[in-house]
Amino acid sequence: MGLMRSAFLAGSQSRWLRERAVKYRFVHKAVSRFMPGEDMAAALAAGSDLRGKGVGSVLTYLGENVKDLDEAAGVARHYLDILAREKEASLDAEISVKLTQLGLDLGPAACEANLTTLLERAAAGGTWVWIDMESSAYTVTTLDIFRRAKARFRNVGVCVQAYLRRTSKDLDSLIPLGGGLRLVKGAYREPPDLAFPRKSDVDANFAALAARLIGREGRQAGVRAIFGTHDPILIRRIEEMSRVESLKPADLEFQMLYGIRRDEQERLAAAGHRFRVLISYGDAWFPWYMRRLAERPANVLFVVKNVFTG
Ligand SMILES: Cc1cc2nc3c(=O)[nH]c(=O)nc-3n(C[C@H](O)[C@H](O)[C@H](O)COP(=O)(O)OP(=O)(O)OC[C@H]3O[C@@H](n4cnc5c(N)ncnc54)[C@H](O)[C@@H]3O)c2cc1C
Repeated sequence: MGLMRSAFLAGSQSRWLRERAVKYRFVHKAVSRFMPGEDMAAALAAGSDLRGKGVGSVLTYLGENVKDLDEAAGVARHYLDILAREKEASLDAEISVKLTQLGLDLGPAACEANLTTLLERAAAGGTWVWIDMESSAYTVTTLDIFRRAKARFRNVGVCVQAYLRRTSKDLDSLIPLGGGLRLVKGAYREPPDLAFPRKSDVDANFAALAARLIGREGRQAGVRAIFGTHDPILIRRIEEMSRVESLKPADLEFQMLYGIRRDEQERLAAAGHRFRVLISYGDAWFPWYMRRLAERPANVLFVVKNVFTG
């Protein structure tokens, strides 16, 4: 793992750094490149802009590792509110949740109860709930909760990470369930016995897993496969694989993060693929923003630039 990446991922867990960084206006300005704003209204406005361009969205209220059940219940209420408002505004939005924000650290029962409330409401509104994948300490529990949710609901998907050595084996049992599977590279600091340390190995694994998801194995099981990446080389490989499988452009679905690779976002939407932008918002952005810096240390230049432009 690169030194910079490692430093940012370590920083993402530092309370000391978080308490200081969030006080600076120039940091807020730099963060705004990846986030339309801290409140629900800003996220809905961004979703509405995208809708105007024929692009759907996935909304994520930032936060993780909540330490009390009332706070977790409050997060669930926030998501219920956003589901109601996105429906009123006909936004074509789905939601993506972190289980530790719904109370997983306090035991799976409360977290699953919160998740079930969201799944029921989303099903009634004809939309989907995605479960983010957090660090490897949560992989097994997250997949268990997804499996139980999938047994009751059709409108649920989970994220799987190509950097984890275990993911290929996990797909053996996840693909036959036929739910939603969102493949990403993976954003946390993991030891080399659990995750491929070399980017080239992560990319090769991403391509191999993508081939299973869009190949006969995934299609026959009825998997809704999402490719959550901004990597133009991988995206072209996946498009090529789909042509070999004689799929139509609309059979492929991509998602990208708000503010990243807008050129590629426009190209994918214009190519006729299904495409959504994941919009994150909220005031608990510090660890999430550190992970964005870790993905591309050159983003630090934007932070530095904002020191000088006020
Ligand atoms: C829809 C979606 C959902 C996700 N959900 C999860 C999740 O639940 N769990 C999880 O661990 N990870 C999640 N991620 C993050 C993911 O794991 C990667 O860390 C992130 O997408 C960067 O990897 P990449 O595939 O874009 O490839 P990279 O090789 O990192 O990047 C490819 C290119 O994309 C651009 N790029 C990538 N990141 C940035 C950035 N931060 N700033 C500017 N340009 C950038 C650059 O041009 C870069 O060259 C999600 C990503 C997406 C798109």
